[in-house]
Amino acid sequence: KKVIFSGIQPTGVFTLGNYLGAVKNWGPLQDEYDCTYSVVDLHAITVKQDPAKLRRQTLDCYALLIACGIDPQKSLLFIQSHNPAHSQLAWVLSCFTQFGDLGRMTQFKEKSQKHPDDINAGLFTYPVLMAADILAYGTDLVPVGQDQKQHLELARGIANRFNGRFGETFVVPEPYIPKTAAKIMSLTEPEKKMSKSDPNPNGFISILDEPDVILRKFKKAVTDSEGVVCRREGKAGINNLMSIYSAITGKDFDEIEREFAGKGYGAFKMAVGETVSDELAPIREAFARLSKDREYLEECYTKGAEKACRATAKMLRKVYKKVGFIGL
Ligand code: ATP
Ligand code: MG
Repeated sequence: KKVIFSGIQPTGVFTLGNYLGAVKNWGPLQDEYDCTYSVVDLHAITVKQDPAKLRRQTLDCYALLIACGIDPQKSLLFIQSHNPAHSQLAWVLSCFTQFGDLGRMTQFKEKSQKHPDDINAGLFTYPVLMAADILAYGTDLVPVGQDQKQHLELARGIANRFNGRFGETFVVPEPYIPKTAAKIMSLTEPEKKMSKSDPNPNGFISILDEPDVILRKFKKAVTDSEGVVCRREGKAGINNLMSIYSAITGKDFDEIEREFAGKGYGAFKMAVGETVSDELAPIREAFARLSKDREYLEECYTKGAEKACRATAKMLRKVYKKVGFIGL
């Protein structure tokens, strides 16, 4: 079976973007692939986090993944900091990563603009840690949103450079971006991607938002003054709503244009809001059940930690040996 790895940061409750762009596709992969999914808390501290909040968000993220259909029996589901191999491998890989390559990463540029008072080294080396996450498990395929493609390209470069110097060591991973995985944009600034760390909650739909909140946010969503539901350049707001509607209903853009021909934006926004709300209802219910069962969650992540450590031990030993460390 091919190995799949993906992760999500516990920087907040997942947004509709995380769900439609990534997590929704993770569950269906479990039967066909050897799946490893991680709540990447080491990545989360590249921006300032409150410790108590981070702990809660990490557990919530873990429960949310289960609520979104990831089965901890079928997949390896774990919390990143529970497996020290990620940090250990990241250090070695950082010595095979060029400063200039990291400087070209658009996520670094965006996030350092957003937090000009805290441009820390971790934010800069984030893609190296991500490469370690992926390469440690011998990953073949990485399901990620469009926004992570550049990081994955870098991980492939690091793997190739290491393999070139020391011989076949890492599997060079391929991105796995399903056709249905949309890049979802902010509802208030549709030129920017929807992010769970957006300080303005109207910009994103959290997958735990109540139906009335979802409808209100869609009603407020920024569009244009044209009043025609159609997909065209310059209509970022409407294009985004159409992508969301399409990702959930499976309808293509022509179909959606026909469905809303002659109807105003009000009716369209209402329809999108209701569709999203129906899609998220079962996840909200599953999460409510799970989050009451702390013991079950603890049992799952403890087992996940053991499995994760076992899965990467050999790779780490191999890498340490190749670079010339004395083994014990
Ligand atoms: P943060 O703002 O803290 O970076 P985020 O919303 O970008 O949070 P991540 O944890 O960085 O979420 O990413 C988790 C997964 O969700 C990744 O696979 C990423 O590609 C995907 N993703 C993030 N935002 C979007 C989006 N707007 N549309 C589609 N996919 C997305
Ligand atoms: Mg992100």
